[in-house]
Amino acid sequence: MKQYDYLIVGAGLFGAVFAHEATKKGKKCLVIDRRNHTGGNVFSEEVEGINVHKYGAHIFHTNDKNIWDYVNSFVEFNRYTNSPIANFEGELFNLPFNMNTFYQLWKVKTPEEAQAKINEQVTASGITDPQNLEEQAISLVGTDIYEKLIKGYTEKQWGRKATELPAFIIKRLPLRFTFDNNYFNDKYQGIPIGGYNKLTEGLLKGIEVRTKVDFFKDKESLMALADKTVFTGNIDEFYSYQFGKLEYRSLKFEHEILDQENFQGNAVVNYTEAHIPYTRILEHKHFEFGKQPKTVVTKEFPCEWSAGMEAYYPVNDEKNNELFKKYRDLSRQEENIIFGGRLAEYKYYDMHQVIGSALVTTKTELS
Ligand code: FAD
Ligand code: UDP
Repeated sequence: MKQYDYLIVGAGLFGAVFAHEATKKGKKCLVIDRRNHTGGNVFSEEVEGINVHKYGAHIFHTNDKNIWDYVNSFVEFNRYTNSPIANFEGELFNLPFNMNTFYQLWKVKTPEEAQAKINEQVTASGITDPQNLEEQAISLVGTDIYEKLIKGYTEKQWGRKATELPAFIIKRLPLRFTFDNNYFNDKYQGIPIGGYNKLTEGLLKGIEVRTKVDFFKDKESLMALADKTVFTGNIDEFYSYQFGKLEYRSLKFEHEILDQENFQGNAVVNYTEAHIPYTRILEHKHFEFGKQPKTVVTKEFPCEWSAGMEAYYPVNDEKNNELFKKYRDLSRQEENIIFGGRLAEYKYYDMHQVIGSALVTTKTELS
């Protein structure tokens, strides 16, 4: 008999939800993470009384009442609604693309005028069957919005031409003909009151966790501790890159404490032109309506991932998806290893989707 039922590699949301559900069913779990904290990318750190999202802005949103109730059973959520502002060459625009944006761009005042303006640009572009992100964006919102608010941001975020990127990425953003700056269409949205760590701590309560432990430094002996392993790290690394390396985008975060109460008046301001090297500036206090005397801001600088960095975004283009399938096929042959989460499934998952996926996985595994 082994010491644990499950060794869970990664204390991010996938690992934490799996550990919580398995423990509830009487299983013994050991969770490890190579970082010095739990929570993976949703981790926040208190600075000047402000919860700083150490790995970029995290706004919880979902349409699924079960998932909303699930997270609310660990921590209460506030009423924060994400309404980022775009700064293009010093001019400000509302996001996502809505009547406020169209007014700011073209001074159009009615949905009909806005639609006509977009239609005119879409027709002029000649795109009828969009094949990539650029064509998809132009065929949805026309060339003005594409040039000012999408192209520069997208190409620096992904380090690739918009013509080489998959169309689905831009479909994440709503387009609406109402004066509504809510970035998400989902029914439920908010930030955990007191920060995301409350969610992670709630999930991992009473479960053995070891941080600063890299699975690959001691793979065999760690796996020998448990009947099964749940792996939430990079799938290509798990298989020693035997088919080649998957591509990821990484980010460098520049955090700064400013001796002023309110720097930019909004939690998220996107810089959509190409030559500014960061994509957005976060001002963390605004996620929780903070009134502290100081403020903490973070600039996000996108870069290509290389060994030793954190892999934040899978690059789900055709080449990488094909390579991923080879690793996925290998992983499906494993009897005692479960792969899950953004890195092991190589999927551009949001938090609610990772939680959903972990709940389905545990249900199948434990029933
Ligand atoms: P992770 O959080 O990456 O956790 C994986 C863990 O595994 C990490 O802690 C890692 O250290 C550990 N690990 C990896 N390899 C090893 C190893 N060899 N040994 C030990 N440990 C290892 N989602 C939203 O819903 N709303 C948002 O606003 C939002 N904003 C985002 C902004 C950014 C910049 C990023 C990058 C993501 C954002 N997300 C957002 C997505 C969200 O972060 C993910 O959906 C979620 O955190 C994924 O959880 P996970 O457990 O799959 O992965
Ligand atoms: N995007 C853009 N301009 C913006 C914001 C987003 O072109 O001002 C595009 C960009 O390609 C980005 C994608 O929309 O990668 C998805 O945006 P989202 O805000 O969902 O990105 P995330 O928060 O996941 O980084």
